[in-house]
Amino acid sequence: MKEENKSIHEFGVNLICEYFLGLERQGPGSPEVTLKALGFIDNLKKDSCIADIGCGTGGQTMVLAQNVQGNITGIDLFPAFIEQFNMNATKINLQERVKGIVGSMENLPFQNEELDLIWSEGAIYNIGFERGLNEWRKFLKPGGYIAVSEVSWFTEKRPVEIEKFWMDAYPGIDTIPNKVSQMQKAGYIPVATFILPENCWIDNFYIPQVSRQEEFLQRYRGNKTVEDLIAYQRYEAQLYYKFKEYYGYVFYVGKKFVYPDPF
Ligand code: SAH
Repeated sequence: MKEENKSIHEFGVNLICEYFLGLERQGPGSPEVTLKALGFIDNLKKDSCIADIGCGTGGQTMVLAQNVQGNITGIDLFPAFIEQFNMNATKINLQERVKGIVGSMENLPFQNEELDLIWSEGAIYNIGFERGLNEWRKFLKPGGYIAVSEVSWFTEKRPVEIEKFWMDAYPGIDTIPNKVSQMQKAGYIPVATFILPENCWIDNFYIPQVSRQEEFLQRYRGNKTVEDLIAYQRYEAQLYYKFKEYYGYVFYVGKKFVYPDPF
């Protein structure tokens, strides 16, 4: 089978983790974009509770932490990411109010209506956009915010090659209006959506991977799984350069709405 035809789901999670551990970010994004999304959120105070779900090593969490008051809990499934996350928080002396814990987005350790803000960059696809929005809503206070970034189609139609790739990698991919509608139906006011600029993928995601790929191939010389993983990552990047008019990452910001009772 050609590497191109392999699915991302066929590589072990440990290998993918190790690959991404050496990178500042595990998904497309930038400090500017994190701050832009944050600009739509107006309810944060010193005692606010914030969760960053699927935080990885915390690239975006640290930006958030330096620009908001309140306590932030980062949650990720992978202990190695959380270890790095907590080291990063300590490095900038924010370990008192920024804490990483190992946990699953499918079973979050929060109380109902505990959170003022749920943040999640490039991670909600692991549970699915719609399911995540629906299941996480109960943890937000009425009027609390959710801000997530998610791969989305920019157009109604697209070439078969890219359609096929994404339907295999993430069948939940959809157009922006459909995602906004899902957000509204899940009980949020859609406050903002914006497309992440290309530099979030190119400069901050794909280019840093180039040297990582070389290093990985050398370290694991002759290891077929590693070679396939790198080939897959390179193929994904090539597709992005070729088809970036048709898809990309989009930030969705929503505000939990509760109808007055009786309505
Ligand atoms: N937010 C980070 C990481 C995005 S990559 C960034 O933008 O750089 C997606 C992250 O989701 C990874 O760190 C992965 O370990 C994590 N993840 C995957 N499945 C998860 C789950 N079920 N619960 C919590 N985190 C999960």
